[in-house]
Amino acid sequence: MERVLFTNGRVLDPVAGALSTQEVLVEGERIIATGTGLPREAGTRIIDLQGRTLMPGLIDCHVHVTAQSLDLWSNVTAPSSLSALRSARVMEETLQRGFTTLRDLGGADLGLVRGVEEGLIAGPRLVICGKGLTTTGGHADLRGLTDGRPDMMSDRLGSMGMIVDGVDNIRAACRTMIKEGAKFIKVMANGGVSSPNDPIHSIQYSRDEILAMVEEAENAGLYVSAHVYTDRAIRRCVELGVHSLEHCNLIEPETAALAAAQGCIAVPTLVAYDALAIEGEALGLGPAEFAKIEVVRQGGLKSLQVMRDAGLLMAFGSDLLGDLRKYHGMEFELLAKVLTPAEIIRSATVIGAKLCGLDAETGRIEAGLCADLIVVDGNPLEDILCLAANGAKMPVIMARGRFAKNQLS
Ligand code: ZN
Ligand code: ZN
Repeated sequence: MERVLFTNGRVLDPVAGALSTQEVLVEGERIIATGTGLPREAGTRIIDLQGRTLMPGLIDCHVHVTAQSLDLWSNVTAPSSLSALRSARVMEETLQRGFTTLRDLGGADLGLVRGVEEGLIAGPRLVICGKGLTTTGGHADLRGLTDGRPDMMSDRLGSMGMIVDGVDNIRAACRTMIKEGAKFIKVMANGGVSSPNDPIHSIQYSRDEILAMVEEAENAGLYVSAHVYTDRAIRRCVELGVHSLEHCNLIEPETAALAAAQGCIAVPTLVAYDALAIEGEALGLGPAEFAKIEVVRQGGLKSLQVMRDAGLLMAFGSDLLGDLRKYHGMEFELLAKVLTPAEIIRSATVIGAKLCGLDAETGRIEAGLCADLIVVDGNPLEDILCLAANGAKMPVIMARGRFAKNQLS
């Protein structure tokens, strides 16, 4: 197995939020040692970092790799083979921005997970939920008001959601998705921004239906993740045992404290709304959609403060679809308006790994963990924007011990 030794670097510990001068030795896909004066066996490839920062690969805990276009119907109706090829490109581009793990919140299937594991795609590790569960008329029901088709081709790879109503149907859907590789269950529990038919404040799914999802997930050692904006919707999900709270733009202090006490993890996705506000006109969004975007955009920065003050853990997310992915780095800028660089780095490494169930695999630089590593020009603990340049300030990106990029040798 090939050995790679990173020398003369400053190794970033996201837990302590500190740098230390250490060497890191990688063999195959694992980090096998860290420290000083590590052995240099014949054949070891030596990468001289010349004082650069070596840190864990980034984790984005809210993506949709199969959403090629913002025209969601065009994603659904595309052949699955085409969606797979497009998704592979999205994943490769995301890896080139330094993200070595992605958590997909609806769309991706086991084929994409395996494609990475088998080396067919030079992509980040993928953690999937199958399809996002939506009620009839809910956030992921893309049908027009009087379009009564019984389903919306949720078997297609490009479909992010699946319409499922009723406790028994929900149990069957959860069991099927878990059988097919889901590592958590996603529920649309609140209105949405991109969907035409449901106001943001609408509450979606009955308590019994969400309890059934939580039970099915917990029976399999997994958890439920909910799409939620309003305080009322978030509180209801927390009370029902939902673990991961996506977006959370309108959360209030009391609910944040309750969520923190229950060990929930929130995933703010501020950039999704800023990107839509910038590009919305060109995308043909109407006044109703713009009004929704403004509500969640205004709430976004305040929500970060509320969640931090409550001690509610936050994982880094982006939720960008289609061409809006070019704004990925902007999430770091938005978070930096409220959070410290060390807090942002934790959200995109250790906390993300915890939410993905991968804290023994990735998110830190320690012997035994997977070699998901990035080399950064500069010190992200002082200037978080060196992570925001779409990979331009990352001369080396390594995922599971393989170089996805190496400009240093
Ligand atoms: Zn959502
Ligand atoms: Zn999403």
